[in-house]
Amino acid sequence: MVSDQNLKKIVVLGTGGTIAGTSSDASDNIGYTAAQVGVAQLLAEVPGLTGVLAGHTLLSEQVAQVDSKDMGFVVWQALAQRVRHHLSNADVAAVVVTHGTDTLEETAFFLQSVLPAALINAKPVVLTAAMRPASSLSPDGPQNLLDAVAVALATGAHGVVAVCSGTVHSALDVQKSHTYRLDAFSSGDAGPVAYVEEGQLRLLRNWPIAHAEYLHEAIEKILVTVDWPRVEIVMNYAGGSGAVVDAMLQTAPGTTALRGVVVAATGNGTLHVDLEAALRRAQAQGVRVVRASRCANGRVLPTAVAEFAHSAGLSPVKARIALMLDLMLR
Ligand code: ASP
Repeated sequence: MVSDQNLKKIVVLGTGGTIAGTSSDASDNIGYTAAQVGVAQLLAEVPGLTGVLAGHTLLSEQVAQVDSKDMGFVVWQALAQRVRHHLSNADVAAVVVTHGTDTLEETAFFLQSVLPAALINAKPVVLTAAMRPASSLSPDGPQNLLDAVAVALATGAHGVVAVCSGTVHSALDVQKSHTYRLDAFSSGDAGPVAYVEEGQLRLLRNWPIAHAEYLHEAIEKILVTVDWPRVEIVMNYAGGSGAVVDAMLQTAPGTTALRGVVVAATGNGTLHVDLEAALRRAQAQGVRVVRASRCANGRVLPTAVAEFAHSAGLSPVKARIALMLDLMLR
């Protein structure tokens, strides 16, 4: 039993997604509208939550209500500010974020990159989601929320993590890996951090540690900035060319000049000779080029095509966020 002195608050921030989605037909798990139900109502419909909370208080706040395919910088800024605000409160033990599955890995990586390391190395930020809408015959959201709260309260938990289908993934490694199944996320060859089994955690590796990559003042800038640098992702494939990169270098009136390109290269960072030449032209014009891999597992080893930077193990979408932050902060 927890003594009164040790009772803490868990804050759940809602951003939308399928977990908050509804459909007029309970048997329809794909023809629904995401982001319809408020986070307070979602929590009210989780059986067993009071038991898992064991006297701790649950607070909720609606930060946004979006389908995460439409996630953008304005929501990210609001979310980072609210997470930081709540984590800074000594009474708050953890923050849970409900999110769509489509871009969850990007939001998780963004939060890990911009939140003060001292805060997230002391308390967990737990993102959770669902593959079926709240109105489904058999929704997965309530169980995922229950598991997320269990993780939020687990002794020693810290860092930005994602919880889905009984599995805890680190922000660095998590990737949506299935279009339909409930177990839609993977940590690739890094493996998950833990499993959640009936509210208990089976820890497989250490909780993620964040490193303070940027100065505190620089992060303040990100949270208010309106002009995010334009960084695009291109892919290498058989029969590819440099046409897309060359087109992106032309700044049409009213569009923002290209500042960076992440290439989802083949294999260990290999590039079609024509795409490579176009990327070289872009780099010569001052555009930052980073090579990631379109492979779901593994990392681009630094030796492949040394003239372009490698993504340090980040997937293309996460490498894009890292490059944007780098362009803004360094
Ligand atoms: N399109 C939805 C979203 O990302 C998918 C989901 O949540 O599963 O918000």
